[in-house]
Amino acid sequence: MSRIAIVGAGLAGLTALQGLKAAGHQVTVFDKSRGSGGRMATKKLGDASWDMGAQFVRAHSDAFAHQLSQWQKEGLIAAWPATLAVADDQGIHPSPDQVERYAGMPRMTGLSRALAGTADEFITATRITTASFRQQQWTLQDEQGQRSGPFDALLLNTPPQQAIPLLTDAPELISLCQQVDMLPCWTLLLTLQQPLPDLPDAVFVHQSPLSWVARNNSKPGRDAEPEAWVLHAGHDWSRAHADVPRETVQQQLLQAFQQLAARGTDQPLTIASQWLHRWLYAIPANPLDSGFVHHDNMPLALCGDWCHSGSLEGAWLSGRQAAHWLNQFMPSP
Ligand SMILES: Cc1cc2nc3c(=O)[nH]c(=O)nc-3n(C[C@H](O)[C@H](O)[C@H](O)COP(=O)(O)OP(=O)(O)OC[C@H]3O[C@@H](n4cnc5c(N)ncnc54)[C@H](O)[C@@H]3O)c2cc1C
Repeated sequence: MSRIAIVGAGLAGLTALQGLKAAGHQVTVFDKSRGSGGRMATKKLGDASWDMGAQFVRAHSDAFAHQLSQWQKEGLIAAWPATLAVADDQGIHPSPDQVERYAGMPRMTGLSRALAGTADEFITATRITTASFRQQQWTLQDEQGQRSGPFDALLLNTPPQQAIPLLTDAPELISLCQQVDMLPCWTLLLTLQQPLPDLPDAVFVHQSPLSWVARNNSKPGRDAEPEAWVLHAGHDWSRAHADVPRETVQQQLLQAFQQLAARGTDQPLTIASQWLHRWLYAIPANPLDSGFVHHDNMPLALCGDWCHSGSLEGAWLSGRQAAHWLNQFMPSP
């Protein structure tokens, strides 16, 4: 049986995990966070929760549509029939789009948790800092100096900038990682004392620091939770404000939301709690078109949305392709 290590429990790594387990390999997954999901993260504060990264999942390809219907049957996702609007200089008006959107159940991380549960070992709160390839085997070391291995193959599912330090024994892959520009995204999470029923559940916002706002408690299974809003700043605004003090960013995003809300409702905005998060590597501006990356003669692959396209679907497709390649490289038991 081959022992395989996956660094990163994002959707790409967890999808690869499914393919590698199906081929009979023994797989250990590492993540620096306390849980799984990466950019599908959910933040909890008291009895409120917010999907603070990916908001919903949707399918363009038949393969992913099939996967979504499987996950729906398993209760891992459910349709999110949100009232959707666009805010621009004409006002707030209903969005014409008819896209079927799904949310993870009971949160986005519900899906990743179920997938991560299939690993032989899932080691969290562990940032891998070194990957060494000696005598045809990989050994990993974390920031505490703890070593893990040996592994017969290694799959990196980190954003490209975070993969570079792990490529000292495969430096020829570094330039591919350097090619991809990952855009940042400031995110403000709010709970309100009073709901804002006049506002739609989600709004694509133009001509504002904000690009998207959504009422998290409008998602399936969250209706008993407090009124909780997720505010995503636009990528250009986030980059321009990358080094601005957090309090200033928070103030400006709040002000932008107040202005937006005032256009859709007369009710006052009464903030109960707020939380600011900066996604340094939110979305690839120029993903590779290779689907995944592999070394020509080492059991090493890289996957993630940055190798395919910037969405959960892109991550899923990338992880699937990487597992397929590793399964061909590593003979099944
Ligand atoms: C604000 C925002 C909104 C979005 N909205 C949507 C949306 O609505 N719909 C959609 O489809 N997509 C959306 N996306 C994009 C989607 O979230 C990503 O495309 C997808 O989650 C990427 O998955 P991944 O597996 O490639 O990487 P990630 O989810 O980034 O996973 C990488 C993992 O690697 C771990 N890691 C990194 N370095 C190390 C290390 N050294 N050691 C151990 N672990 C490490 C990280 O902790 C992380 O868990 C959004 C993204 C953001 C940020």
